[in-house]
Amino acid sequence: MTGPLDSASDQNRPPSFRLPHALRGAAPLLALLALAAIVGVAGWLGYRLSYDTALARQAERGQVQLRLYAQALESELAHYDYVPSLLTLDQNISALLARPGDPARVAKANEYLSALNTRAGTRVVYVLDAHGKVLATSNWQRPDSYLGEDLSFRPYFQSAIDGQLGRFYGVGTTRSESGYYLSAPLGNRDKPAGVAVVKIGLEPLENRWQGADSQMLLADENGVVILASDPSWKLAALRTIAPETRDRLARSLQYNRAPLPQLPLATVRVLGNGSDALVRLRQGPPMLAQNAALPGTDWQLTLLSNTSQARVAALNSAALAGVLTAFVLLLAAAWNVRRRIVGERLAARAALEAANSELERKVAERTADLSSANQRLQAEVAERIRTEAVLRQAQDGLLQAGKLAAVGQMSTGIAHELNQPLAALRTISGNTCKFMDRGDYATVRANLDTIIGLVERMGRITGALKSFARKGGNGKRSAVLAEAVDNALFLLDTRVEAAHPDLQRDIDPSLAVACDPNRLEQVLVNLIGNALDAVAGRAAPVISLHTSVTGDMVHLTVRDNGQGLSEEAFSRLFEPFFTTKPAGEGLGLGLTLSAGILNENGGSLSATNHPDGGACFTLVLPLARQDVTHAG
Ligand code: ADP
Repeated sequence: MTGPLDSASDQNRPPSFRLPHALRGAAPLLALLALAAIVGVAGWLGYRLSYDTALARQAERGQVQLRLYAQALESELAHYDYVPSLLTLDQNISALLARPGDPARVAKANEYLSALNTRAGTRVVYVLDAHGKVLATSNWQRPDSYLGEDLSFRPYFQSAIDGQLGRFYGVGTTRSESGYYLSAPLGNRDKPAGVAVVKIGLEPLENRWQGADSQMLLADENGVVILASDPSWKLAALRTIAPETRDRLARSLQYNRAPLPQLPLATVRVLGNGSDALVRLRQGPPMLAQNAALPGTDWQLTLLSNTSQARVAALNSAALAGVLTAFVLLLAAAWNVRRRIVGERLAARAALEAANSELERKVAERTADLSSANQRLQAEVAERIRTEAVLRQAQDGLLQAGKLAAVGQMSTGIAHELNQPLAALRTISGNTCKFMDRGDYATVRANLDTIIGLVERMGRITGALKSFARKGGNGKRSAVLAEAVDNALFLLDTRVEAAHPDLQRDIDPSLAVACDPNRLEQVLVNLIGNALDAVAGRAAPVISLHTSVTGDMVHLTVRDNGQGLSEEAFSRLFEPFFTTKPAGEGLGLGLTLSAGILNENGGSLSATNHPDGGACFTLVLPLARQDVTHAG
């Protein structure tokens, strides 16, 4: 029904992508994988973006911090710049340089240097001659004093003897104490008489760094860490030291034979500005490395800051991005599903409406068919009713004809019945006149009583005939069987008299049947009349009437001892106008009409030949209900 409609709507629908059948089962898995991949990518992008942003912010803070540390370091170092130059001016030192072997001058110079060292807060202050030998030192009293040592191999001596200011970080050869050496030529710059050296400890700076969350490194011109917030990193190399440099350093004892291991710092990623980088120490977490050159030196300050906060923020962002993406994707999927459901629902509704209208059209068609069929049927019914009315009329006519035929049969007898009292009336009334003339009133009275009796008898005969011949029933629904038999016998009285059979009656007087009494009489007149015909002329005619009750049906058998039913009569018994009687005596309607009347009242009529001879007719009618009114 919806076939053509479906194909039409299919054509209108936009072509949709359909997975091959084999893949359709795996579709949810593929969708999940795609979702996971998209969420993963979104998470990774969120992580990367947030991480880079956080790193950039951290780098800005790091730059500020670096600048501050660099300035602090610079000012700390500059603080002692004046000390070596100060010695040039001092007379004790000049006197010592003039006569280096004089113990008194050495002692004075030592005293002076010791006092200066204490006042300036430096580690050691000492004076070398032009060959690099220590002439006087602030630590002259200590057993490990430099006094008399040859330090000409030290680069700071080299710089100063060349007429320049020397700056140098090194590890002490006697006590392996690291420090910052500042040197200046003494006397003539072109041909210095000696060199003044001051050694500064940088530990206070280091101590200041140690409190910080991040790691701070100060690497010298060789890339060797000379200051570090983590002491274990000290004297480690930030970059690879070439073998020739290592030789030179060994010769100058700058780091006093320290092994200078290389710090295993690996660059993970160089960041946007090129100077910052993400580095990793061994397998540790990545750190942000930022460098700043220390002005006035070849040194480089490095800040290594922890990126864990940036990573935590990035992880949060990644999670947020992932969740948001998953949410948006699921929302989109839900919206898509909803859109599809709505689409399907609309299509289903359209199909339903189409089916509905198709159904309505069919129903309308069927209704039209049915109403025309109904009209035809009604016309047929009306026709049947008309035909039935005509039939009933014909049947009534037939019944009437049957009755009249019976009356006709009875007419001879009735005429005889009426003639007899009429003749008697004439004779008696003539005699009565004579008795009245004689004044014999007693006889007159007796004759008049006889006349009244005769007239009543004649009235009864004509009354019975009139009632029998009346058209149609008298409308009653039940009849007492014995009374109906009496009336029938009364009507047939003359014929009974003529045949004079042995009339055997075995009828329960209380039995009432559901049938109009007039119609029942008509049936009984027919049956008894036929029996009288059958026994007419027999030597010992017998007619027996017998009733019995089976369930709620009454059976009345009318049996005679006549010749019985011939074979032909048996097969055509209820055929209209079948008769074996001479013309004028039988119409052949009696049994047909009787069977019709009994059938109409829910009963039946059947015939058999009795084994002892004679015909036996059985009339069956339903028992009447209790509220029977007697017909008499
Ligand atoms: P009719 O009496 O006018 O012939 P019925 O219909 O009453 O019409 O009877 C039809 C025929 O059935 C009779 O002509 C007769 O041959 C046969 N018939 C009816 N009753 C008997 C009977 N009691 N004995 C023998 N034949 C009978």
